[in-house]
Amino acid sequence: MPKPQTEIWHDHCSDDVATRLETNAQSGLSLLEVPRRLDKHGPNQLTQRAGETRLQILLRQFQQPLVYILLAAVVLTLVLREWADAAVILAVVLVNAWIGFMQEAKALQAIDALSRIMNNEATVIRGGETAQVSATELVPGDLVLLQSGDRVPADLRLVREKDLQIDESALTGESVSVEKETATLPAGTVLAERNNMAFSTTLVTYGTGAGIVVATGDRTEIGQINELIASAEVLETPLVRRINELSHLLLKVILVLAALVAIAIMLRGAPPVEVLLAAVALAVGAIPEGLPAVVTATLALGVSRLAQRRAIVRKLPAVETLGSTTVVCSDKTGTLTQNQMTVRSILAGGNLYSVSGSGYAPEGGFHRVNDSDTLIGSGDQSVEASADDTLMETLRAGLLCNDARLVKDDEGNWLVEGDPTEAALLVSSAKAGFIRKDEKHRFPRLDAVPFESQHQYMATLHRGADGSRVYMKGSVERLLPRCVCDANGSPLDPQLIERQVAAFAEKGQRVLALATKRMPAEQKTLDHHDLQGELSFLGLQAMIDPPRPEAITAVAACHQAGIKVKMITGDHVVTATAIATQLGLDGVRDEASGALVGLTGAELEVMTDRQLIESAEATAVFARVSPAQKLRLVEALQSRGHVAAMTGDGVNDAPALRQANIGVAMGITGTEVTKDAADMVLTDDNFASIEAAVEEGRGIYDNLIKFIAWTLPTNLGEAGIILVAAFLGFQLPITPLQILWINMSTAVLLGATLAFEPKEPDIMNRPPRDKNEAILTKPLMWRTLWVGSLLVIATYFVFAFKKSLGVDMDSARTAAVNVIVLGQAFYLLNCRSLRHSMFHVGLLSNLWLWGGVVAMIGLQLMFTYLPVMNQLFGSAPTTWRPWVLAIAAGLLLYVLAEVDKWRQRSFVA
Ligand code: ADP
Ligand code: MG
Repeated sequence: MPKPQTEIWHDHCSDDVATRLETNAQSGLSLLEVPRRLDKHGPNQLTQRAGETRLQILLRQFQQPLVYILLAAVVLTLVLREWADAAVILAVVLVNAWIGFMQEAKALQAIDALSRIMNNEATVIRGGETAQVSATELVPGDLVLLQSGDRVPADLRLVREKDLQIDESALTGESVSVEKETATLPAGTVLAERNNMAFSTTLVTYGTGAGIVVATGDRTEIGQINELIASAEVLETPLVRRINELSHLLLKVILVLAALVAIAIMLRGAPPVEVLLAAVALAVGAIPEGLPAVVTATLALGVSRLAQRRAIVRKLPAVETLGSTTVVCSDKTGTLTQNQMTVRSILAGGNLYSVSGSGYAPEGGFHRVNDSDTLIGSGDQSVEASADDTLMETLRAGLLCNDARLVKDDEGNWLVEGDPTEAALLVSSAKAGFIRKDEKHRFPRLDAVPFESQHQYMATLHRGADGSRVYMKGSVERLLPRCVCDANGSPLDPQLIERQVAAFAEKGQRVLALATKRMPAEQKTLDHHDLQGELSFLGLQAMIDPPRPEAITAVAACHQAGIKVKMITGDHVVTATAIATQLGLDGVRDEASGALVGLTGAELEVMTDRQLIESAEATAVFARVSPAQKLRLVEALQSRGHVAAMTGDGVNDAPALRQANIGVAMGITGTEVTKDAADMVLTDDNFASIEAAVEEGRGIYDNLIKFIAWTLPTNLGEAGIILVAAFLGFQLPITPLQILWINMSTAVLLGATLAFEPKEPDIMNRPPRDKNEAILTKPLMWRTLWVGSLLVIATYFVFAFKKSLGVDMDSARTAAVNVIVLGQAFYLLNCRSLRHSMFHVGLLSNLWLWGGVVAMIGLQLMFTYLPVMNQLFGSAPTTWRPWVLAIAAGLLLYVLAEVDKWRQRSFVA
C-alpha cells in the first residue's frame, strides 16, 4: 500500500504555519473555532487495528494437539457409525473450545478496558487562556504546551522551546533524546532530523515548548506506521509460560503412555476403535486441559481486583510478581504523606513567624515568635504583617516563583492545580493579603527555569518598575551557598539559618529557601548559569505534610508480611527521618545510639557497590536522592535477591522503574513518561494501594496454585484408572466417553471456581513467596501422587464391589464414575486452602464453589437416572448403596488431605 502523501511543515517558518492553519501562535485558536474543526477532522485518535478477530481467537482454540486427537476420534467413530460416541466427542471439543475462547475474550476485554482509563491529557492555549483538555479533542491549529514528562499528543510544528528534548524511540527506534529547535529546515530533511517538529506519542524528556498542531489522529506520522498500533497485549506471563512448558512436557509423556496403552490393549485383541478410544481417554484424562484457561482467567480476574484496589496493571506479569515482592521503595511526598502542604513557620529578616490557619483556605495570620519560641508579650500581640518588608518579600517570592493555582469548587473547597508545595506558598502569601493577579500584573514573568528534582530549585525572571529581578526557591543546600547577603545587603549567618532548618526538619517539616537577585533590565531570558551566585537570601518557609493515616497501617502490614519498606525522597534527610518515625518504618533508629539514621544522596555517591549493597539492605531512609541513585539502589537490592517494587513520578525516574521488578507510577502526579515505563499505575498515588496490590497479588497466585493442586491429582487419577486396566488386563471401570464427560464437567464446574476464592485471612502474615519456587513443590508432588492413587483405588474398589454383587456392567461403571466425581468434589473443598481447613477460610466465603458443587451433583444425578444420558454415555441407574460408598470414599479423601495439610503446617511452623 503506498503511503499517503502528507503535508510537510518543517520547511515553513512558524508564522507561516500559523497563517496557513488560521491560528495564532500566541493565543491559539478561538474557542468557537474548535468544535468546527473537530467536526471536520474528527477526534485525535488512532484507529484501533484489531489484533486478532474474534473468529481467529475461536479458531486458535482448535489448534492444539489434544483437539487433533479428539477430532481424529470423531472421524473414526463416524466411519464406524458410532453416532453417539461421535456426537459426544464432538460436543467435548466444541465446549472446550468455547470455554477457552470465552476466557480469553474476557481477559482481553478486561485489559482493554483498563488501558482506556489511562486517558491522555494535553495543555492547550485557546482564546488566550491555558486549559487542560483531553488529547482526543485536539484539532489542527491548536496551540499545545509541552513540558518534561508529557507525551506529545499530536504532530506539532514547534513555535517556542526551552531546552526541549524529546525521546522519539516510539517513532524512529532511536533511543537518544532529540534536542529540538524552532528554526525552519530544508524541505528534504528526513523525519528523524525534523527538529522543529514534535511527533505524536513521543515523550518529552526535558525542557518546555509550544507547538501548533499540524496533524491529528491517523494523519500523524505514528498513525501511518500502522503495525505499531495493533494492540500488542500478550496474555503471556512467566507463570503462564512455565505452565505451558509443564503442559507440553505432560503431553509428551502422555502421548508415549497412550501409545503403550494402545499396544497393550491391541495385544489383547481388542477392536481398533476400542484401542483408539482407550488411548484418547488416557490422553484426555491425564491432560489438565482447563489449566491454561483457568490461569488466564485468574490473572484477568486479578487485573480487575487490583483495579478495584486502585492499582492499574499495565503489564500482566506484574500481577504474579506482586505476590513475591520483598521490598517496597516508596516516594515520601504524596505517597506516604498526604501531599496537603501548609506553611506553618517562616523565617525572614531574622524573625521567626508562625502562620495560623489550616489547609488551602487563604485564612489565617502571622505571629512573630521570639527565640524562646513563645509569642512576644502576652501571646495575643499579632504582628501587622506589612510591617516587615523581608517577610513580605519572602511571601511575594513564593507567590511569583510558582506555577500552581488554587481554585474553589462548587462546595467552597479549595483545590490545587499543580504542585502542592507551590500551592502552600500561594496560600501563605494570600494570608498576608497578596492577590495573585495583581502581583503577576505588577511583576510580569519574562522567563522561568522550571523545577526539576535533580536541581532542587526553580526560578523566575520578572520585570518590575525598577528593572528586572529573579525570584528563586528551592532546597536550602542548593540556595544558601549561592546567597551572598540578606535582603538588606547585610552579611548572612549561614549557621543560624541551618540551625533553624534543622529545627523545622526535626518536626518533619518541608523547608523551602527563597532568594532574589537584581538583573540587567535588558535581560529577557533566564538560564541555570544566571542562578550560580550573587543572590540575596530572603527567608525560609516551612510546611507540614502529615503522613497518611492509611500509610501507617499499610507500613505495619508490610512489616508483618515480611516486606521491607524504604523511603526514597528528594527531601531533607532530617525531615525524611522524622516522617519515617511517624510512619513506623523499621530501621530508622540506630539500635545502639537511638539516633535517627538516614542516608543522603551525597553519601550514596561515594559508596562502592559493595558498601551500597550493605547499606541498601540496612537503611530505611534515603534522602536528597537523585534519579540515577534510585536506579543504583534498585540494582543493589536486587543483587541481594530482593524482588523490588519502586515508585516514581518524575521523568528521570523511568530507568529506575524499568529496572524494578514492579515499577509503580503515580496516576495523579506522575508524568506520562513514568507511566509509560511502569508496570502498575496507582490511581490515588497512595502507598496503601501498593500494599493492597501486594495482598491481591498474593491471593491471585494462591488461587492459581490451588487450582493446580486440585487438577493434577484428579487428572492423574483418571489416567491411572486407564493405565491400570490396560497393563493389568482389568476391565475398564470407566469408558473413555465417561472419562471425557468427567474431565470436561469437573474442570469447569469444580476446578475453575477456585479462581473466586477470596484471599485467606492470614495472607499478609506469611513471608513473601520465593520467586524461584517451582510450581510443583515437593509437598504438592507428593499430594498429587497419593490423592491420584487413592482415587484409582476407590474407583476399582467400588467397581469390583458392584460387580461382585452381580449387577450389570453399565451400573457398575456408573457407580465408579460417581466415585471419581464425588471424590473430586470433596478434594475441591480441601483445595480451598493449601494451609488451613475450609472452616478457617470461611465455609460460605466462595458461593461460586458451592454453586459448582451443587450443579455437578445435579449433573451426576442426570447422568445416572436420565434415560437420554444413559443412552449417550452408556450409564445406568444405580441403587443408593454406591452413592453411600462414593460419599464415604470422598470423606476419607477429605480427612486424609486435611491431615496431610496439618502435617505440613506443623513442619513449617
Ligand atoms: P520529594 O517529592 O521526594 O519530596 P522532590 O524531588 O520533589 O522530593 O523535592 C526535593 C527538594 O526540592 C525539596 O525538598 C524542596 O527543597 C525542593 N522543591 C520541591 N518542590 C519544589 C518546587 N516546586 N520548587 C522549588 N523547589 C522545590
Ligand atoms: Mg516531589
